[in-house]
Amino acid sequence: MQNIKEQLNILRKETQNCLKCPLSQNRTKIVFSDGNENAKIMFIGEAPGKNEDKMGLPFIGRAGLLLRKYLKELEYNENDYYITNTVKCRPPENRKPTNKEKKACQNYLKKQIELVDPKIIVLVGSTALESFAIEKTTITKARGQVFEKEYAGKIRKFIPIFHPSYLLRKHSEEQNSPRFLFKKDLIFIKELITL
Ligand code: SF4
Repeated sequence: MQNIKEQLNILRKETQNCLKCPLSQNRTKIVFSDGNENAKIMFIGEAPGKNEDKMGLPFIGRAGLLLRKYLKELEYNENDYYITNTVKCRPPENRKPTNKEKKACQNYLKKQIELVDPKIIVLVGSTALESFAIEKTTITKARGQVFEKEYAGKIRKFIPIFHPSYLLRKHSEEQNSPRFLFKKDLIFIKELITL
């Protein structure tokens, strides 16, 4: 019986040969994941960008590094989280992945969730939120709330947060500013996993 790491590696290899959607045509590298496969938190973003496509790692562009900066500032332990995206290949010109592309890639994500089995799934931005059809809601209304929903074999906790790309244009950390709320949500998530 393979352990979780081995099973995830098999899945990663599968994605490397995947031609299930048109995003396979322009990818440089598959962007499968980063982080601890036994993590309590899984962050799911939208899609790889230019840097991610080049390096094969998620959340290493400007927006992703901003998320990582906040995680560090809030003293998240790197073992606490695992990061991936709704699709594993970069959409051209950084457009949003289409519903068809997300659907084509969904089984990889579902299997990742099953294997990592995180305590909390953080939906980073509206594309990730929409992918899970949590409720007919917007990221502004849903952020910071806990949604429970059956997915990949059990009831799971989902918490939407703003996408860090939104924060790149909003520098203020004043009360109730997007950055303030982003930090507040990350603090809340950290508290939940330490309960
Ligand atoms: S985005 Fe997903 S489904 Fe589409 S080619 Fe890449 S790995 Fe396959």
